Amino acid sequence: MKKQRKVILVGNGAVGSSFAFSLLQNMSSVELVVIDINKEKTMGDVLDLQDVTPMTGSSIVRAGTYEDATDADIAVVTAGVPRQPGETRLDLFKKNTNILKAIVMPIVNSGFDGCFVISSNPVDVLTTITQHLSGFSKEKVIGTGTSLDSARLCVELALKLNVLVSEVKNAYVLGEHGDSLFATFAEATVLGKKLSEIAALDKKSLQKLEESVRKRGSRIIDLKKATHYGVAVCLMRICKAILTDEEIMLPVSAPLVGQYGQKGIYLGTPAIIGTGGIKQVIEMQLVPAEFQKMKLSADKMREVLVSLE
Ligand code: NAD
Repeated sequence: MKKQRKVILVGNGAVGSSFAFSLLQNMSSVELVVIDINKEKTMGDVLDLQDVTPMTGSSIVRAGTYEDATDADIAVVTAGVPRQPGETRLDLFKKNTNILKAIVMPIVNSGFDGCFVISSNPVDVLTTITQHLSGFSKEKVIGTGTSLDSARLCVELALKLNVLVSEVKNAYVLGEHGDSLFATFAEATVLGKKLSEIAALDKKSLQKLEESVRKRGSRIIDLKKATHYGVAVCLMRICKAILTDEEIMLPVSAPLVGQYGQKGIYLGTPAIIGTGGIKQVIEMQLVPAEFQKMKLSADKMREVLVSLE
């Protein structure tokens, strides 16, 4: 029997269980091992998820331990405390760093040699810390970064222009997955044409779109206490690209090694994703004001990281 590609998932909460559901629907043959301190709920979800597999292919789902990471291709980390109404993602920093520390080392000690994919918040900081703790090469550690925000920008643009979301392409949100994120519209196309040719959106309208994206997560949390479907599909998309060596450009939290004048941290930018993780970080052409916004995001991330020392 051909060995299935193997994913371990640490954190079976709202985000983790939604990711598991999405992965099983979008990959017909994977082995998914779920790890969480809440063993009872995990076993319930595992049984429920096993019932998905006959309809989608031949995947295997089971609860497991860190030793299962030894021959895994990907370790997805969604464990952590989520935001409460009124909290920022950075407020979660200390609690989630401690949780992350309890997860990364047992995975590394298992002999794991795959890619880490992180979505716990603050995701850019926690992705940077995962790379430091694991000692893995930078391309093997990826955060979901601004993938969710970029999806939200496409949704907001489609609603604004009254087009199908599939007609909106290359609209990216860059920088921190958090309050200092910013949107760049220069490469955005709608119905195959440059955004500027399709609609005369003035600076104020574009700022309003960016602000809607910035506030969308809090809006959802105020309404239903959690956001999980969007990021779950972003995680699935990144994992699928790694498992199938897709070499596709996705917005992620990627290691900057000079791009945008920054290095030593992970931040949201498009990158080419395939087997082995990040194949290339794509540096977008930014106007000086956007370049400055990237610097602000980077400075903010460094401030948080320094506070840990
Ligand atoms: P949740 O409370 O529903 O789930 C968290 C899970 O982590 C729980 O099942 C809990 O038992 C588990 N957990 C905690 N400590 C653990 C440990 N040491 N080992 C194993 N499991 C452990 O929370 P959620 O809504 O799923 O959110 C999880 C994280 O994802 C939060 O940090 C949240 O802010 C983040 N998030 C990120 C994005 C993004 O775009 N990056 C979007 C939404 C949520």
